Amino acid sequence: MKLIEYQAKEVLSSLGFPVQTGILVHNEEELARALDQLQTYPVVLKAQVPVGGRGKAGGIKLASTREEALEKGRAILSMEIKGIPVRKLLVAVAVDIQKEYYTGIVLDRRNQTLTLMVSPEGGVDIEEVARTHPEAIQKLPVSMRDGLADFQARELAFWLFDDRKLALKGARILKALFHAARTLDATLVEINPLVLDAQGELVAVDAKILLDDNALFRHPDLERRRDMDYENREELEAREAGLSFVRLDGNIGCCVNGAGLAMATMDVIKYYGGEPANFLDIGGSSRPEKVVKALDIILRDPRVKVIYFNIFGGITRCDDVARGLIQAFEQMKTKLEGKPVVIRLTGTNEAEARSMLASSGLPLITVETMAEGAQKAVELAGGTA
Ligand code: GDP
Ligand code: MN
Repeated sequence: MKLIEYQAKEVLSSLGFPVQTGILVHNEEELARALDQLQTYPVVLKAQVPVGGRGKAGGIKLASTREEALEKGRAILSMEIKGIPVRKLLVAVAVDIQKEYYTGIVLDRRNQTLTLMVSPEGGVDIEEVARTHPEAIQKLPVSMRDGLADFQARELAFWLFDDRKLALKGARILKALFHAARTLDATLVEINPLVLDAQGELVAVDAKILLDDNALFRHPDLERRRDMDYENREELEAREAGLSFVRLDGNIGCCVNGAGLAMATMDVIKYYGGEPANFLDIGGSSRPEKVVKALDIILRDPRVKVIYFNIFGGITRCDDVARGLIQAFEQMKTKLEGKPVVIRLTGTNEAEARSMLASSGLPLITVETMAEGAQKAVELAGGTA
């Protein structure tokens, strides 16, 4: 789960982080009230969307008067950024920026650490800095067990800041970043830019936090912050139904039991020149309700031309699976019109299962191998997507 700027700033502020002052608004009325409340100019108006590069897209504007702020705020609220309509606007007291830094902490799975990353080239896309002059980024792996020692934080801060007093302030911020990542179970806490203002203070002007979904149960307060204006409804609905679903860009709907098999299925589809429309793991059971929900979610995507079921019987017997599938297809019959379904079932009693599917009177195409099924699906989807 992602916390976008306004949420990340709230959370960081509650952890004692120095954060730019701002108010979240949804429309012009609220904007006018927020401006009255802030009573200071210039302000910066910032589109709240879950994508980066808002500045370049015109979603961040400075305004020096109330009129200008209302006008620019109105414009931003009617924008779309990378296809996402702006529904929220953050009105913040503009910081008089002397210098911008990058600071972030990210879960490094390979090293099994949290890794602090800092750069004096803040404000811009850090991936770009990493590509063009990686020497401008300093990284420090931090052991999960031992944490970040004061001397380590200071050493990194002295690399980042020229001024001694600033470096000591910076060291406290780096420690707070580590603390934030640990207490929030975050896989990323990024402040870009961290700004040196005219008063010599360090302030977070932009922030982003990625939370580990598998640890969200420990943070009900954070889960409640899920912003339904920007979440993918299908993915949420799937999660509630015990399915794991990720929408992709192709036209072959996939319905698979087991995450590994789902990955393999997507690979094989791509191998034969097709594009999967989704990753979907229906899990161990083939309860008809689960299959119905899965089909329902897949079929909402108008790009889906064909559905490929790739089911590995395993402990569940294939004839049981087939019975469940037939029930589900009966329920979804009308929605499935014009969408061919290719099924590969393998495991115990697969022959019985295939003949049950064949004699069900449903327009199903049964195949024997994963490759055959993928080829068939790609062909029915009209070849390369
Ligand atoms: P992003 O483009 O989505 O990463 O949005 P940011 O919030 O990082 O803003 C992009 C850039 O806009 C920053 O790097 C700053 O240069 C500028 N900016 C943002 N807020 C302020 C502010 O309060 N004062 C000034 N002077 N510039 C700002
Ligand atoms: Mn930024």
